Amino acid sequence: MEFTGKVALVTGGARGIGRATAVRLGQGGAKVAINYRGRADAADEAKRLVGQAGGTALAIQGDVSVEADVDRLVKEALAFGDGRVDILVNNAGITRDDLLIRMTPEAWDAVLDLNLRGAFLVTRAVMRPMMKARYGRIVNVSSVAGVMGNAGQANYAAAKAGLIGFTKAVAREMAQRNVTCNAVAPGFIPTDLTNELLEKMRGSILPQIPLGRFGTVEEVAGAIAFLASDAASYITGQTLIVDGGMVTA
Ligand code: NAD
Repeated sequence: MEFTGKVALVTGGARGIGRATAVRLGQGGAKVAINYRGRADAADEAKRLVGQAGGTALAIQGDVSVEADVDRLVKEALAFGDGRVDILVNNAGITRDDLLIRMTPEAWDAVLDLNLRGAFLVTRAVMRPMMKARYGRIVNVSSVAGVMGNAGQANYAAAKAGLIGFTKAVAREMAQRNVTCNAVAPGFIPTDLTNELLEKMRGSILPQIPLGRFGTVEEVAGAIAFLASDAASYITGQTLIVDGGMVTA
């Protein structure tokens, strides 16, 4: 996949799936703005890896659940891209798992604020330049939890299902301007977010996965890169499930 001349912004791009995506886009020759919240060292490492892969990168600090941060970081990304952001990957995400009976309103709000409201804020901020350029690829990182639900993750499942509805609405609003908006829904992918849970639950999860293993961040990044590429120019409003065959409906 070819991204030469394209400018990408990946939120939460310093680690995990976001970092693998930044590297994958860099491999295709993209200029990648890597947003990170707190870990400047991880952002530097991601920047180095994008450079090594053949791209150019800039690390931009900012909390995507805070409107003022989003406005500033999108301005910085636009300056880096000479006025353009061609590809937006709304990847930043957190979990605050608990059974619903014990879930606090704070845990609910924190997860909805970042996973759903954050994607809204960043998408809204890049919309105008994308529409002006009559080109854009938006990829939202949802989850199979948003497709089939997951016990202990009512907040996360609601946010990720919301992101799928958001994807469909944005796809319809932006289609006339040649801006596509799609989602990926990863299954179980070992990262900082999930390592502990996956190790604990390995025995009960693996039998549910037809391919018989967890996925890798590179496998999710490949699906994101496809949706961000010109190969996907006639696909919009869709959710691509990347889960080793768990969800087939
Ligand atoms: P991760 O924890 O490695 O990455 C999440 C990234 O988001 C981190 O870089 C983190 O710093 C960043 N982030 C957190 N809060 C932020 C904020 N307020 N502002 C900006 N950035 C912030 O986890 P990951 O597994 O790579 O997750 C990436 C995305 O994939 C998330 O949206 C997650 O919900 C989704 N996902 C992951 C899995 C999985 O199994 N790992 C499955 C389905 C969906």
